[in-house]
Amino acid sequence: MKLPNIKENFADWYNEVIYASELADQSPVRGCIVIRPYGTALWENMKSVLDEKFKQHGVQNALFPLLIPESFLKREAEHIEGFAPELAVVTHAGGKKLEENLVIRPTSETMIHFMFAKWIRSWRDLPLKINQWANVMRWEMRPRAFLRTSEFFWQEGHTAHLTQEEANKMVLDILKEYVDFAENYLAISVITGLKSDAEKFPGADYTYTFESFMPDGKGLQMGTSHLLSQNFAKSFDMKFQDQEGKQSFPYLTSWGVSTRLIGATVMAHGDDKGLVLPPKIAPIQVVIIPILKKDANNQATLDAAYKIKDSLIVKGIRVLVDDNDQQSPGFKFNNWEMKGVPLRIEVGPRDLENGQAIVADRLGMNKEAVVLTNIINYSEALLLKVQKEMFERSKIQQNKMLHKIAKLSEFGPLLDTDGIYIKTGWCKNPACEKELKNFKASTRCLLQTHELVDCFYCGEKSKGDVLVARSY
Ligand SMILES: [Zn+2]
Repeated sequence: MKLPNIKENFADWYNEVIYASELADQSPVRGCIVIRPYGTALWENMKSVLDEKFKQHGVQNALFPLLIPESFLKREAEHIEGFAPELAVVTHAGGKKLEENLVIRPTSETMIHFMFAKWIRSWRDLPLKINQWANVMRWEMRPRAFLRTSEFFWQEGHTAHLTQEEANKMVLDILKEYVDFAENYLAISVITGLKSDAEKFPGADYTYTFESFMPDGKGLQMGTSHLLSQNFAKSFDMKFQDQEGKQSFPYLTSWGVSTRLIGATVMAHGDDKGLVLPPKIAPIQVVIIPILKKDANNQATLDAAYKIKDSLIVKGIRVLVDDNDQQSPGFKFNNWEMKGVPLRIEVGPRDLENGQAIVADRLGMNKEAVVLTNIINYSEALLLKVQKEMFERSKIQQNKMLHKIAKLSEFGPLLDTDGIYIKTGWCKNPACEKELKNFKASTRCLLQTHELVDCFYCGEKSKGDVLVARSY
């Protein structure tokens, strides 16, 4: 099947490639998708890398209820205000109207904090570091597969600490792990910074984000790490006895990434032929295609294909032999290119006579004849090279799209052009930030730099540079 032209129609390309590559399918429930086995395998690979990273920081996994008493969300005023329009509420169960409505979790802060209050009695119970891999629900008016769906899968980390310094460190440690994951596994270049007050998590003291910019110039929030205000601990009466025997409240963090990372990976790397998956997280890293002849004995070709497969598995490489004898090699090439498998090895009778096989890489679409005795080392090295090259490309592409422009009147109209995002100066007045809405844009994150002198709108002194873009 042919995809819409990626340069001319990025949005349609994205919508079609998700389904054509069999990452996901539409479901009968509006705003909810089915993540198919190929998409699930991709998510599982992401999960396993992140899960190990979290555990290195002493985080333990747990599972909390899907349903949250409505009253829990009302305890933290800013929190409920932030989520109210997106909540799905259960009013009936067991054939009866419930005494208290139950909310399908939009996030589990309140439930987990309720339990933390029970579990944290003394300073010896700290730090407490919990993570949950789960699905959550936030009703979406304009759903898009993986980017915005009413139900999505994610991890939410929640930690409690004795001191604010320790909590700050946790927020930054996790942010660092996220960035390492985005750049060295997903091969996506990201920019980190604080969110503005208007864009931060409802009820947080501050929110760190890591953002990337897609080929159409739109910003994509890849994930966030927050220091929560003490109000969260107070509203659940999370008191404990400190070292001096006094009553004290812990400092809380929360942090999360979701299946949105699948959407980011698709957009950041895909091309007209389909997905291009980074080797480190690709469900299948190498597909071997034996070139089978009709009405002939193909046993020698198949044996050679399986032998390469076994040797690749020994090296820890995820590999599949496509030995379907009803499909032509050309059909298979297109199919695995659509699915973005990083390497393809073709083995035919003629190749075998020459003691070689053909190795093709999805990223560069290069083909190379490689002697069979060297094929394992060659593939291993090429996977590493492709991984690195994908990240370099991502970095170069995002740098190219970044424009430094001082005035909203100049860059506002440009935001309608594909492939542009803006670095500008800001006085930090929320009124100026609101003006961006006229161009359907927002601040993505505050930068550490201070290159622009004046605010993009009011002309007062800038307090620091900020990234502005339309966003997913
Ligand atoms: Zn201003």
